[in-house]
Amino acid sequence: MMNSIPYWWRHAPPTPGKQQNVQSNCDVVIVGAGLTGLSAAIVLARAGKSVQVFDRGIAGAGASTQNGGILSGNLRMGLTASMAAYGPDRGLAMYKEAIDARRAFRDFVNAEGIKCDLQYNGRFTGAMTPRDFDGMKRAADEENEALGVDAQILERQDQNAMVGSDLYHGGIGRDDIGSMHPAKFYAGLLAVAINAGVTVHDNTAVLNVLDQNHVETLRGNVTADRVIVAMNGYADNSDAWLRKRVVPVTSRIIATDEIDTDVMARLMPRMGTFGEARYLGRYYRPSPDGKRILLGGRDVLVGANPAGAARRLADNVVAIFPELRGIGVDTHWAGQVAYTQDELPSIFERDGIIYACGYCGSGTVWAPWFGRKAAYRILGDERARSAFDCNPPKTIPLYNGRPWFLPFAIGYYGVRDWIAGR
Ligand SMILES: Cc1cc2nc3c(=O)[nH]c(=O)nc-3n(C[C@H](O)[C@H](O)[C@H](O)COP(=O)(O)OP(=O)(O)OC[C@H]3O[C@@H](n4cnc5c(N)ncnc54)[C@H](O)[C@@H]3O)c2cc1C
Repeated sequence: MMNSIPYWWRHAPPTPGKQQNVQSNCDVVIVGAGLTGLSAAIVLARAGKSVQVFDRGIAGAGASTQNGGILSGNLRMGLTASMAAYGPDRGLAMYKEAIDARRAFRDFVNAEGIKCDLQYNGRFTGAMTPRDFDGMKRAADEENEALGVDAQILERQDQNAMVGSDLYHGGIGRDDIGSMHPAKFYAGLLAVAINAGVTVHDNTAVLNVLDQNHVETLRGNVTADRVIVAMNGYADNSDAWLRKRVVPVTSRIIATDEIDTDVMARLMPRMGTFGEARYLGRYYRPSPDGKRILLGGRDVLVGANPAGAARRLADNVVAIFPELRGIGVDTHWAGQVAYTQDELPSIFERDGIIYACGYCGSGTVWAPWFGRKAAYRILGDERARSAFDCNPPKTIPLYNGRPWFLPFAIGYYGVRDWIAGR
Protein backbone atom coordinates (compact mmCIF):
# COMPACT_ATOMS: atom_id res chain seq x y z
CA MET A 1 0.00 0.00 0.00
CA MET A 2 1.53 3.32 -1.11
CA ASN A 3 1.74 6.09 1.42
CA SER A 4 1.09 9.64 0.21
CA ILE A 5 2.76 11.66 2.96
CA PRO A 6 6.03 13.26 1.82
CA TYR A 7 8.96 11.07 2.78
CA TRP A 8 10.71 14.07 4.34
CA TRP A 9 7.90 14.67 6.82
CA ARG A 10 8.87 11.45 8.67
CA HIS A 11 11.92 13.23 10.04
CA ALA A 12 10.68 16.86 10.25
CA PRO A 13 6.92 17.23 9.76
CA PRO A 14 5.56 20.78 9.32
CA THR A 15 3.95 21.57 12.65
CA PRO A 16 1.69 24.53 13.49
CA GLY A 17 3.26 27.01 15.90
CA LYS A 18 1.51 28.56 18.89
CA GLN A 19 -1.42 30.70 17.74
CA GLN A 20 -0.73 34.41 18.24
CA ASN A 21 -2.92 37.47 17.85
CA VAL A 22 -2.79 39.15 14.47
CA GLN A 23 -1.39 42.67 14.94
CA SER A 24 -3.35 45.23 12.95
CA ASN A 25 -0.16 47.22 12.23
CA CYS A 26 3.38 46.14 11.44
CA ASP A 27 6.28 47.16 9.22
CA VAL A 28 6.05 44.31 6.72
CA VAL A 29 3.42 41.70 5.84
CA ILE A 30 4.59 38.62 3.97
CA VAL A 31 2.06 36.36 2.23
CA GLY A 32 3.33 32.78 2.20
CA ALA A 33 5.67 31.10 4.71
CA GLY A 34 7.80 29.04 2.32
CA LEU A 35 11.52 29.51 1.67
CA THR A 36 10.88 32.84 -0.09
CA GLY A 37 8.71 34.32 2.64
CA LEU A 38 10.82 33.20 5.61
CA SER A 39 14.12 34.21 3.99
CA ALA A 40 12.74 37.72 3.43
CA ALA A 41 11.38 37.83 6.97
CA ILE A 42 14.73 36.94 8.58
CA VAL A 43 16.60 39.78 6.85
CA LEU A 44 13.88 42.28 7.73
CA ALA A 45 13.54 41.22 11.36
CA ARG A 46 17.30 41.32 11.84
CA ALA A 47 17.20 44.87 10.48
CA GLY A 48 14.74 45.78 13.23
CA LYS A 49 11.45 45.58 11.28
CA SER A 50 8.29 44.09 12.76
CA VAL A 51 7.26 41.29 10.40
CA GLN A 52 4.14 39.13 10.21
CA VAL A 53 4.18 36.15 7.86
CA PHE A 54 0.82 34.62 6.96
CA ASP A 55 0.27 31.17 5.57
CA ARG A 56 -3.07 29.73 4.61
CA GLY A 57 -1.91 26.28 5.73
CA ILE A 58 0.72 25.00 8.14
CA ALA A 59 3.93 26.94 7.57
CA GLY A 60 6.23 25.02 5.24
CA ALA A 61 3.62 22.60 3.95
CA GLY A 62 3.81 24.11 0.42
CA ALA A 63 6.61 23.16 -1.94
CA SER A 64 9.34 24.10 0.51
CA THR A 65 9.26 20.86 2.54
CA GLN A 66 8.15 18.61 -0.31
CA ASN A 67 10.84 19.16 -2.91
CA GLY A 68 13.61 16.84 -4.03
CA GLY A 69 16.22 18.79 -2.07
CA ILE A 70 18.46 19.18 -5.12
CA LEU A 71 20.30 22.51 -4.91
CA SER A 72 20.56 23.07 -8.64
CA GLY A 73 19.89 26.82 -8.97
CA ASN A 74 18.99 25.87 -12.50
CA LEU A 75 17.99 28.24 -15.31
CA ARG A 76 15.97 26.66 -18.07
CA MET A 77 17.70 28.60 -20.86
CA GLY A 78 21.39 27.80 -21.47
CA LEU A 79 24.12 30.43 -21.09
CA THR A 80 24.52 31.13 -24.81
CA ALA A 81 20.77 31.32 -25.38
CA SER A 82 20.39 33.64 -22.36
CA MET A 83 23.11 35.93 -23.68
CA ALA A 84 21.40 35.99 -27.08
CA ALA A 85 17.95 36.60 -25.61
CA TYR A 86 18.80 39.12 -22.88
CA GLY A 87 22.06 40.62 -24.13
CA PRO A 88 25.58 39.39 -23.32
CA ASP A 89 25.91 41.33 -20.06
CA ARG A 90 22.57 40.41 -18.53
CA GLY A 91 22.66 36.82 -19.79
CA LEU A 92 26.09 36.33 -18.22
CA ALA A 93 25.04 38.14 -15.04
CA MET A 94 22.12 35.73 -14.59
CA TYR A 95 24.47 32.76 -14.67
CA LYS A 96 26.90 34.49 -12.29
CA GLU A 97 24.03 35.17 -9.94
CA ALA A 98 23.19 31.45 -9.94
CA ILE A 99 26.74 30.76 -8.71
CA ASP A 100 26.36 33.39 -5.97
CA ALA A 101 22.96 32.02 -4.98
CA ARG A 102 24.29 28.45 -4.62
CA ARG A 103 27.21 29.70 -2.55
CA ALA A 104 24.89 31.83 -0.39
CA PHE A 105 22.74 28.80 0.39
CA ARG A 106 25.76 26.85 1.61
CA ASP A 107 27.08 29.82 3.61
CA PHE A 108 23.69 30.35 5.26
CA VAL A 109 23.38 26.71 6.35
CA ASN A 110 26.90 26.77 7.77
CA ALA A 111 26.55 30.17 9.45
CA GLU A 112 23.25 29.24 11.13
CA GLY A 113 24.37 25.69 11.92
CA ILE A 114 21.27 24.16 10.31
CA LYS A 115 21.42 20.37 10.35
CA CYS A 116 19.83 19.41 7.04
CA ASP A 117 22.02 16.62 5.60
CA LEU A 118 23.72 19.11 3.27
CA GLN A 119 25.97 17.15 0.92
CA TYR A 120 28.07 17.95 -2.13
CA ASN A 121 28.53 14.52 -3.71
CA GLY A 122 28.36 15.55 -7.35
CA ARG A 123 25.62 16.23 -9.85
CA PHE A 124 25.30 14.24 -13.09
CA THR A 125 23.15 15.41 -16.00
CA GLY A 126 22.72 12.64 -18.54
CA ALA A 127 22.49 13.01 -22.32
CA MET A 128 19.63 11.06 -23.89
CA THR A 129 21.21 11.00 -27.37
CA PRO A 130 24.70 11.50 -28.87
CA ARG A 131 23.41 14.77 -30.36
CA ASP A 132 22.30 15.98 -26.92
CA PHE A 133 25.75 15.11 -25.63
CA ASP A 134 27.48 17.18 -28.33
CA GLY A 135 25.36 20.19 -27.36
CA MET A 136 26.04 19.59 -23.66
CA LYS A 137 29.80 19.42 -24.24
CA ARG A 138 29.71 22.76 -26.05
CA ALA A 139 27.64 24.31 -23.28
CA ALA A 140 30.00 22.93 -20.60
CA ASP A 141 33.03 24.38 -22.38
CA GLU A 142 31.30 27.76 -22.64
CA GLU A 143 30.31 27.79 -18.97
CA ASN A 144 33.78 26.74 -17.85
CA GLU A 145 35.34 29.50 -19.88
CA ALA A 146 32.88 32.30 -19.12
CA LEU A 147 32.14 31.50 -15.49
CA GLY A 148 35.10 29.50 -14.23
CA VAL A 149 32.84 26.67 -13.04
CA ASP A 150 34.14 23.13 -13.15
CA ALA A 151 31.67 21.38 -15.46
CA GLN A 152 33.23 17.97 -16.13
CA ILE A 153 32.54 16.23 -19.42
CA LEU A 154 31.98 12.51 -18.86
CA GLU A 155 32.10 10.35 -21.97
CA ARG A 156 29.73 7.41 -22.05
CA GLN A 157 32.47 4.94 -21.13
CA ASP A 158 33.34 7.03 -18.05
CA GLN A 159 29.89 7.88 -16.75
CA ASN A 160 29.70 4.82 -14.50
CA ALA A 161 31.84 6.72 -12.02
CA MET A 162 28.70 8.79 -11.40
CA VAL A 163 25.74 6.60 -12.43
CA GLY A 164 25.33 2.85 -12.83
CA SER A 165 23.14 3.11 -15.92
CA ASP A 166 23.73 2.56 -19.62
CA LEU A 167 20.80 4.77 -20.58
CA TYR A 168 22.88 7.88 -21.10
CA HIS A 169 25.19 8.86 -23.94
CA GLY A 170 27.60 10.61 -21.62
CA GLY A 171 26.87 13.56 -19.38
CA ILE A 172 28.13 16.50 -17.39
CA GLY A 173 29.33 16.36 -13.79
CA ARG A 174 29.27 19.28 -11.37
CA ASP A 175 30.63 19.33 -7.84
CA ASP A 176 29.14 22.69 -6.84
CA ILE A 177 25.56 21.41 -6.90
CA GLY A 178 24.55 19.72 -3.69
CA SER A 179 21.55 18.26 -1.94
CA MET A 180 19.81 18.61 1.39
CA HIS A 181 16.87 17.33 3.39
CA PRO A 182 14.21 19.96 2.60
CA ALA A 183 12.02 19.48 5.68
CA LYS A 184 15.01 19.58 8.04
CA PHE A 185 16.25 22.72 6.27
CA TYR A 186 12.84 24.33 6.54
CA ALA A 187 12.61 23.49 10.27
CA GLY A 188 16.01 25.14 10.77
CA LEU A 189 14.99 28.19 8.74
CA LEU A 190 11.77 28.56 10.73
CA ALA A 191 13.71 28.41 14.01
CA VAL A 192 16.09 31.12 12.74
CA ALA A 193 13.08 33.28 11.76
CA ILE A 194 11.36 32.89 15.10
CA ASN A 195 14.59 33.62 16.99
CA ALA A 196 14.95 36.77 14.88
CA GLY A 197 11.53 37.94 16.11
CA VAL A 198 9.37 37.07 13.09
CA THR A 199 5.71 36.26 13.81
CA VAL A 200 4.42 33.37 11.71
CA HIS A 201 0.66 32.85 11.53
CA ASP A 202 -0.27 29.32 10.40
CA ASN A 203 -3.72 28.59 9.00
CA THR A 204 -4.35 32.29 8.44
CA ALA A 205 -5.03 32.90 4.78
CA VAL A 206 -4.59 36.33 3.31
CA LEU A 207 -7.99 36.75 1.65
CA ASN A 208 -7.15 39.87 -0.29
CA VAL A 209 -3.98 41.79 -1.05
CA LEU A 210 -5.69 45.18 -1.22
CA ASP A 211 -2.68 47.41 -2.01
CA GLN A 212 0.93 47.95 -0.99
CA ASN A 213 -0.10 48.79 2.58
CA HIS A 214 -3.20 46.71 3.29
CA VAL A 215 -4.13 43.06 3.42
CA GLU A 216 -7.29 41.36 4.58
CA THR A 217 -6.63 38.12 6.47
CA LEU A 218 -8.83 35.37 7.86
CA ARG A 219 -8.22 36.83 11.31
CA GLY A 220 -8.42 40.56 10.63
CA ASN A 221 -7.10 43.36 8.45
CA VAL A 222 -3.50 44.49 8.64
CA THR A 223 -1.85 47.78 7.68
CA ALA A 224 1.87 47.64 6.89
CA ASP A 225 4.56 49.84 5.35
CA ARG A 226 5.17 47.18 2.68
CA VAL A 227 3.78 43.85 1.49
CA ILE A 228 5.73 40.95 -0.04
CA VAL A 229 3.80 38.27 -1.92
CA ALA A 230 5.58 34.88 -1.73
CA MET A 231 2.88 32.39 -2.76
CA ASN A 232 4.69 30.99 -5.82
CA GLY A 233 2.89 27.84 -7.10
CA TYR A 234 0.16 28.17 -4.48
CA ALA A 235 -1.03 31.63 -5.57
CA ASP A 236 -4.77 31.84 -5.08
CA ASN A 237 -7.51 34.41 -5.63
CA SER A 238 -6.19 36.63 -2.84
CA ASP A 239 -4.17 38.10 -5.70
CA ALA A 240 -6.12 37.59 -8.91
CA TRP A 241 -3.62 39.78 -10.78
CA LEU A 242 -0.76 37.34 -10.02
CA ARG A 243 -2.85 34.30 -10.91
CA LYS A 244 -3.09 35.49 -14.51
CA ARG A 245 0.69 35.71 -14.82
CA VAL A 246 2.12 32.69 -13.04
CA VAL A 247 1.22 29.13 -13.97
CA PRO A 248 1.15 26.47 -11.23
CA VAL A 249 2.46 23.08 -12.33
CA THR A 250 2.19 19.91 -10.28
CA SER A 251 5.44 18.14 -9.55
CA ARG A 252 5.29 14.58 -8.19
CA ILE A 253 7.99 12.49 -6.50
CA ILE A 254 8.23 8.94 -5.29
CA ALA A 255 10.49 7.33 -2.71
CA THR A 256 11.12 3.67 -3.50
CA ASP A 257 11.21 0.80 -1.07
CA GLU A 258 14.60 0.22 0.51
CA ILE A 259 17.34 -1.06 -1.77
CA ASP A 260 20.39 -3.14 -0.72
CA THR A 261 23.40 -1.03 0.17
CA ASP A 262 25.68 -2.76 -2.35
CA VAL A 263 23.13 -2.21 -5.14
CA MET A 264 22.82 1.48 -4.24
CA ALA A 265 26.61 1.79 -4.26
CA ARG A 266 26.66 0.37 -7.79
CA LEU A 267 23.82 2.54 -9.11
CA MET A 268 24.90 5.79 -7.47
CA PRO A 269 28.60 5.38 -6.66
CA ARG A 270 29.02 8.93 -5.34
CA MET A 271 25.52 9.22 -3.91
CA GLY A 272 25.10 12.48 -5.79
CA THR A 273 22.07 13.90 -7.60
CA PHE A 274 20.90 13.31 -11.15
CA GLY A 275 19.02 15.02 -13.95
CA GLU A 276 18.50 14.66 -17.67
CA ALA A 277 19.04 17.10 -20.52
CA ARG A 278 15.44 17.08 -21.67
CA TYR A 279 12.60 19.52 -21.39
CA LEU A 280 10.61 17.00 -19.35
CA GLY A 281 13.68 15.33 -17.89
CA ARG A 282 13.50 13.30 -14.69
CA TYR A 283 15.43 14.20 -11.55
CA TYR A 284 16.50 11.74 -8.92
CA ARG A 285 18.75 11.19 -5.92
CA PRO A 286 19.34 8.80 -3.05
CA SER A 287 17.65 9.50 0.27
CA PRO A 288 20.18 11.01 2.69
CA ASP A 289 20.56 7.62 4.43
CA GLY A 290 21.38 6.08 1.03
CA LYS A 291 18.64 3.43 1.25
CA ARG A 292 16.04 4.62 -1.28
CA ILE A 293 15.81 6.39 -4.60
CA LEU A 294 13.68 9.52 -4.82
CA LEU A 295 12.62 10.33 -8.38
CA GLY A 296 10.39 13.10 -9.64
CA GLY A 297 8.87 14.59 -12.75
CA ARG A 298 6.05 16.87 -13.92
CA ASP A 299 2.61 15.41 -13.42
CA VAL A 300 -0.56 16.77 -15.00
CA LEU A 301 -2.72 13.81 -14.09
CA VAL A 302 -2.66 14.28 -10.35
CA GLY A 303 -6.42 14.77 -10.00
CA ALA A 304 -7.19 11.76 -12.14
CA ASN A 305 -5.00 9.03 -10.72
CA PRO A 306 -2.15 9.87 -8.36
CA ALA A 307 -1.33 6.22 -7.63
CA GLY A 308 -1.07 5.54 -11.38
CA ALA A 309 1.22 8.55 -11.76
CA ALA A 310 3.38 7.20 -8.93
CA ARG A 311 3.62 3.81 -10.63
CA ARG A 312 4.69 5.53 -13.85
CA LEU A 313 7.48 7.21 -11.91
CA ALA A 314 8.52 3.78 -10.60
CA ASP A 315 8.63 2.60 -14.25
CA ASN A 316 10.99 5.51 -14.85
CA VAL A 317 13.29 4.25 -12.08
CA VAL A 318 13.39 0.88 -13.88
CA ALA A 319 13.99 2.54 -17.26
CA ILE A 320 17.15 4.06 -15.78
CA PHE A 321 18.16 1.08 -13.63
CA PRO A 322 16.73 -2.12 -15.19
CA GLU A 323 18.05 -4.28 -12.35
CA LEU A 324 15.42 -2.63 -10.11
CA ARG A 325 12.55 -4.23 -12.05
CA GLY A 326 9.67 -4.83 -9.62
CA ILE A 327 10.80 -2.12 -7.18
CA GLY A 328 7.97 -0.93 -4.94
CA VAL A 329 6.93 2.64 -4.20
CA ASP A 330 7.03 3.35 -0.49
CA THR A 331 5.53 6.81 -0.73
CA HIS A 332 4.55 9.39 -3.34
CA TRP A 333 3.49 12.99 -3.06
CA ALA A 334 3.01 16.10 -5.15
CA GLY A 335 3.30 19.85 -4.75
CA GLN A 336 3.01 22.97 -6.84
CA VAL A 337 5.81 24.82 -8.60
CA ALA A 338 5.37 28.02 -10.63
CA TYR A 339 6.33 29.03 -14.15
CA THR A 340 6.34 32.48 -15.71
CA GLN A 341 6.01 32.98 -19.45
CA ASP A 342 9.73 33.63 -19.94
CA GLU A 343 10.68 30.76 -17.60
CA LEU A 344 12.96 32.89 -15.45
CA PRO A 345 12.87 33.34 -11.69
CA SER A 346 11.30 36.76 -11.27
CA ILE A 347 11.36 39.61 -8.79
CA PHE A 348 9.21 42.64 -9.55
CA GLU A 349 6.83 45.21 -8.11
CA ARG A 350 3.25 46.08 -8.89
CA ASP A 351 2.02 49.33 -7.38
CA GLY A 352 4.56 48.97 -4.58
CA ILE A 353 3.72 45.32 -3.76
CA ILE A 354 6.85 43.15 -4.08
CA TYR A 355 6.67 39.73 -5.74
CA ALA A 356 9.27 36.95 -5.90
CA CYS A 357 8.25 33.78 -7.73
CA GLY A 358 8.51 31.66 -10.88
CA TYR A 359 11.45 29.44 -10.04
CA CYS A 360 10.27 26.90 -12.64
CA GLY A 361 10.78 23.89 -10.37
CA SER A 362 14.28 24.91 -9.23
CA GLY A 363 13.52 26.98 -6.15
CA THR A 364 15.60 25.48 -3.33
CA VAL A 365 18.44 27.88 -4.11
CA TRP A 366 16.43 30.61 -5.85
CA ALA A 367 13.60 31.03 -3.32
CA PRO A 368 15.87 31.94 -0.35
CA TRP A 369 17.92 34.15 -2.68
CA PHE A 370 14.94 36.13 -4.00
CA GLY A 371 13.32 36.25 -0.57
CA ARG A 372 16.44 38.04 0.67
CA LYS A 373 16.47 40.30 -2.41
CA ALA A 374 12.86 41.30 -1.69
CA ALA A 375 13.86 42.25 1.86
CA TYR A 376 16.88 44.25 0.66
CA ARG A 377 14.55 46.24 -1.63
CA ILE A 378 12.51 47.31 1.35
CA LEU A 379 15.65 48.19 3.30
CA GLY A 380 17.06 50.21 0.37
CA ASP A 381 20.15 47.97 0.52
CA GLU A 382 22.22 47.75 -2.66
CA ARG A 383 22.27 43.93 -2.34
CA ALA A 384 18.71 44.12 -3.71
CA ARG A 385 20.07 44.47 -7.23
CA SER A 386 19.59 41.41 -9.41
CA ALA A 387 19.95 40.42 -13.04
CA PHE A 388 16.43 39.05 -12.66
CA ASP A 389 14.82 42.39 -11.72
CA CYS A 390 12.01 42.72 -14.19
CA ASN A 391 8.78 44.44 -15.03
CA PRO A 392 5.64 42.61 -13.97
CA PRO A 393 5.13 39.60 -16.25
CA LYS A 394 2.55 39.96 -18.99
CA THR A 395 -0.77 38.18 -18.65
CA ILE A 396 -0.80 34.83 -20.35
CA PRO A 397 -3.31 34.90 -23.22
CA LEU A 398 -6.56 33.03 -22.52
CA TYR A 399 -5.38 32.22 -19.00
CA ASN A 400 -7.46 33.05 -15.93
CA GLY A 401 -5.59 31.12 -13.26
CA ARG A 402 -6.79 27.66 -14.24
CA PRO A 403 -4.04 26.01 -16.30
CA TRP A 404 -6.35 24.18 -18.72
CA PHE A 405 -3.60 24.09 -21.36
CA LEU A 406 -1.05 22.18 -19.29
CA PRO A 407 -1.84 18.69 -20.57
CA PHE A 408 -1.36 20.06 -24.12
CA ALA A 409 1.83 21.91 -23.19
CA ILE A 410 3.31 18.90 -21.44
CA GLY A 411 2.20 16.70 -24.33
CA TYR A 412 3.89 19.15 -26.71
CA TYR A 413 7.19 19.11 -24.80
CA GLY A 414 6.98 15.32 -24.46
CA VAL A 415 6.68 15.10 -28.25
CA ARG A 416 9.60 17.53 -28.67
CA ASP A 417 11.71 15.31 -26.41
CA TRP A 418 10.61 12.25 -28.34
CA ILE A 419 11.50 13.84 -31.70
CA ALA A 420 14.87 14.95 -30.32
CA GLY A 421 15.51 11.33 -29.33
CA ARG A 422 14.91 9.97 -32.84
C1 LIG B 1 7.57 17.84 -5.65
C2 LIG B 1 8.50 19.00 -5.80
C3 LIG B 1 9.86 18.76 -6.03
C4 LIG B 1 10.75 19.83 -6.15
N1 LIG B 1 12.09 19.56 -6.25
C5 LIG B 1 12.96 20.57 -6.28
C6 LIG B 1 14.35 20.30 -6.29
O1 LIG B 1 14.80 19.16 -6.15
N2 LIG B 1 15.20 21.36 -6.40
C7 LIG B 1 14.74 22.63 -6.48
O2 LIG B 1 15.56 23.56 -6.60
N3 LIG B 1 13.43 22.93 -6.40
C8 LIG B 1 12.53 21.93 -6.30
N4 LIG B 1 11.20 22.20 -6.19
C9 LIG B 1 10.76 23.62 -6.18
C10 LIG B 1 10.90 24.29 -4.81
O3 LIG B 1 10.41 23.47 -3.79
C11 LIG B 1 10.10 25.61 -4.82
O4 LIG B 1 10.49 26.40 -5.93
C12 LIG B 1 10.29 26.43 -3.56
O5 LIG B 1 10.05 25.66 -2.41
C13 LIG B 1 9.38 27.64 -3.60
O6 LIG B 1 9.35 28.23 -2.32
P1 LIG B 1 8.30 29.37 -2.02
O7 LIG B 1 8.53 29.82 -0.64
O8 LIG B 1 8.38 30.42 -3.07
O9 LIG B 1 6.88 28.69 -2.20
P2 LIG B 1 6.11 27.59 -1.30
O10 LIG B 1 7.03 26.82 -0.44
O11 LIG B 1 5.26 26.83 -2.23
O12 LIG B 1 5.26 28.48 -0.33
C14 LIG B 1 4.16 29.25 -0.77
C15 LIG B 1 3.22 29.36 0.42
O13 LIG B 1 2.22 30.34 0.13
C16 LIG B 1 1.11 29.97 0.89
N5 LIG B 1 -0.08 30.68 0.41
C17 LIG B 1 -0.69 30.57 -0.79
N6 LIG B 1 -1.76 31.39 -0.83
C18 LIG B 1 -1.82 32.02 0.36
C19 LIG B 1 -2.70 32.98 0.93
N7 LIG B 1 -3.75 33.47 0.27
N8 LIG B 1 -2.47 33.42 2.21
C20 LIG B 1 -1.41 32.95 2.92
N9 LIG B 1 -0.54 32.02 2.41
C21 LIG B 1 -0.75 31.57 1.16
C22 LIG B 1 1.01 28.46 0.70
O14 LIG B 1 0.23 27.85 1.70
C23 LIG B 1 2.49 28.07 0.74
O15 LIG B 1 2.87 27.61 2.03
C24 LIG B 1 10.26 21.16 -6.08
C25 LIG B 1 8.92 21.40 -5.85
C26 LIG B 1 8.04 20.34 -5.71
C27 LIG B 1 6.59 20.61 -5.45
